[in-house]
Amino acid sequence: MIEIDDTAVVTTGSSGYGPGEAPEWDYYSKCIHCGLCLNACPTYRELGLEMDSPRGRIYQIIQVDRGRLPLGESFVRHIDSCLDCRACETACPSGVEYGRLVEAARSQICQYYQRPGIGRYISHIFFQKLLPDRRMLNQVGTLLWLFQKSGLEAILVKSGIPRLLSKRLGRVAALSPQMEKPFFTKRLGQVVKPVGDLRYRVAFFAGCIANLAFARLNDATVRVLARNGCEVVIPEAQGCCGALHVHAGIRGKARELAKQNIRTFLDGGFDYFITNAAGCGSVLKEYPLLFEHEEHEFYEQAQEFSSRVRDVTEFLAGIEFDRNFGAIRARATYQDPCHLGHAQHIRSAPRTLMAAIPGLELVELKESEVCCGSAGIYNVVQNEMADRLLTAKMQRVDETGAELVLTANPGCLLQLRAGVARSRLKRRVLHVVELLDEAYRSRVQAG
Ligand code: SF4
Ligand code: SF4
Repeated sequence: MIEIDDTAVVTTGSSGYGPGEAPEWDYYSKCIHCGLCLNACPTYRELGLEMDSPRGRIYQIIQVDRGRLPLGESFVRHIDSCLDCRACETACPSGVEYGRLVEAARSQICQYYQRPGIGRYISHIFFQKLLPDRRMLNQVGTLLWLFQKSGLEAILVKSGIPRLLSKRLGRVAALSPQMEKPFFTKRLGQVVKPVGDLRYRVAFFAGCIANLAFARLNDATVRVLARNGCEVVIPEAQGCCGALHVHAGIRGKARELAKQNIRTFLDGGFDYFITNAAGCGSVLKEYPLLFEHEEHEFYEQAQEFSSRVRDVTEFLAGIEFDRNFGAIRARATYQDPCHLGHAQHIRSAPRTLMAAIPGLELVELKESEVCCGSAGIYNVVQNEMADRLLTAKMQRVDETGAELVLTANPGCLLQLRAGVARSRLKRRVLHVVELLDEAYRSRVQAG
């Protein structure tokens, strides 16, 4: 049964949403309240609360639109606790595009709800200043690299001080990404020639934080693409995709970033734009949604841009990829990133690629479609729920007995690595494309 806190209900007769992008009747009216999405929802599975289920959140979204529920603390809490993982979209027989609804609700929260405390200042610096500014990101990344390289981070973590200050700080400290020098930022502007005949001219989307914390993954992606006949251009003027902004409801800034990327990538005359980050890929493919109501003059360009975006696994599995792999003798399992499986409907492509590696024994992970708790920065801002989901995920990983845990999104890599680090078992956590790169290289070394 749906329960609404009556003390919070105010009937104004007019919508509780202000001007600007808001959840629309056309989308929420598709919900027939059947509840088939409930058991697919990680927060409902953990809490068993209707208000923290997709159906319950849609109900609250409707109540605010009807002026029966204020856009206040209770509404914000339940919308914040959503992972935006979109597992409910996969489960829904009625075609409810839940991601659109929750992202529009968050846009309203951003504009018309004042969050208490210093959180909003930190959020402003992170989203408006840091992510869009490559120079600032590099400086912060270098400081973090020095902190990690000097051993100070390890001493601090071992001392248990963060955990003593607060349990949450202890858990968040364990999620800190390891900086990888040289940063991939150095490679922006480069062109990598194909190995053998030219088959495709592609542009590689390198991400923002990934340039610092996943430089090796980006290098591996470029090598694998070149190995498959791609001339890989790494456009200099590219920037953050805006995915974290979209998930947080900061749509104005997301549009600014989208326009910059659209201009940069469309200008190059490439066949495809390739990303190795499921979270980025899903938003890059959905750029047109940002221009449906605002700055509509960019809508067609956004559609043109999006039609050429491919996840690296989708691209490779869709061509005659080079199967000349060396053997990797290991038991492996695969976690479906939510923004690859639920948002982009890509499930078989990574499995096709992994199945082509000789010696690799792939064991399916039970509930691999359930979020690991990463969800952008959810594991930082909603750490307790993220930690519960990670614990459940690691139990499933344990059941497989796999030595290799594979996935296809940098955020999931971070979360799963934090889960593996807690256990005494030696396991490697890799992106599928890193495994392909290893398999190609082991073939070359074997002669
Ligand atoms: S997006 Fe994920 S967390 Fe949010 S309601 Fe849907 S299934 Fe639940
Ligand atoms: S499955 Fe779809 S239609 Fe049914 S309650 Fe969930 S969102 Fe609504």
